[in-house]
Amino acid sequence: MGSILPSRLRAKENLRNMVSETALSRNGLVWPFFVKAEGRPEEVHGKGITRVPLGEVEAFVEPLYELGLKSALLFGVPQRKDGAGSGAFDGPVQSAIARLKRCFPGLNVITDVCLCQYTDHGHCGVVEDGRINRGKTLEALSKVAVSHAEAGADVVAPSAMADGQVGALRRALDAAGFEGTCIMAYSAKYASTLYAPFREAAGSSPAFGDRAAYQMDFRNSREGILEGELDLAEGADILMVKPAMPYLDVIKEFRERFTRPIAAYQVSGEYVMIKEYCRATGTDETKVALEMLTCIRRAGANIIMSYFVPEILKTLERWP
Ligand SMILES: [Zn+2]
Repeated sequence: MGSILPSRLRAKENLRNMVSETALSRNGLVWPFFVKAEGRPEEVHGKGITRVPLGEVEAFVEPLYELGLKSALLFGVPQRKDGAGSGAFDGPVQSAIARLKRCFPGLNVITDVCLCQYTDHGHCGVVEDGRINRGKTLEALSKVAVSHAEAGADVVAPSAMADGQVGALRRALDAAGFEGTCIMAYSAKYASTLYAPFREAAGSSPAFGDRAAYQMDFRNSREGILEGELDLAEGADILMVKPAMPYLDVIKEFRERFTRPIAAYQVSGEYVMIKEYCRATGTDETKVALEMLTCIRRAGANIIMSYFVPEILKTLERWP
């Protein structure tokens, strides 16, 4: 037995392609990158994880746009941090959104909405007496989201994991006249050990404690379903699972349970693991990346965030 496909159908590559169940497409790929106010472009653990200075944002995106980049996810790296994360309200991200939308009108601009890159304590919300103040956090996140929508963002992605953040953003966006701005919810965001290179790039490690109190336990999947249901009820347009590769079962469950588009974030630690594996074994990095992203797609994700997107786009040049 072996394959369910008759050997006739497996004998030629064209036939294998014809009957394959899963394909990556440019439309579903999102490149996450970091925008800083000034300085030179910096790579963190390889080309994919990049801090781009605001002045070079267009030049950076242009070659990728020409290769067919459809969507980008922006994170901000502010010049200074403070207790309230005030750099989140007006900084390089807002300017970068406006510049990208002007230069590349066809690009979907998605923005991260959180405070951890901007706060001196590195937590995702407003901290008072050593604890996150939920009300003030929701207020601050709403203000950030509206500023991104004003700059032209198509999708905002609240990642602070504050209870009620999706509903708060939806109400704030609608009240400001941005009914058309979508919300991508980090519904199942796990307290993972795989975020280290990201935190290095974003400069957002918590100065005290950790984020386990507001991120999910990796031993649980039902909790993720509940979060997805809550986010849907609050008005999320897209539901996300993060990280991706060790959480394919969660992606699959989301796909089966929810009719909304499902996004998966192949995080910085997954990226570095693949890079290190390829360096140690001489395996072709693009081939590994293609396999991993296709598996994430196969599990049910419509949208995939990956630092490999620039590399993958080059191979997709030959694709339909
Ligand atoms: Zn955060």
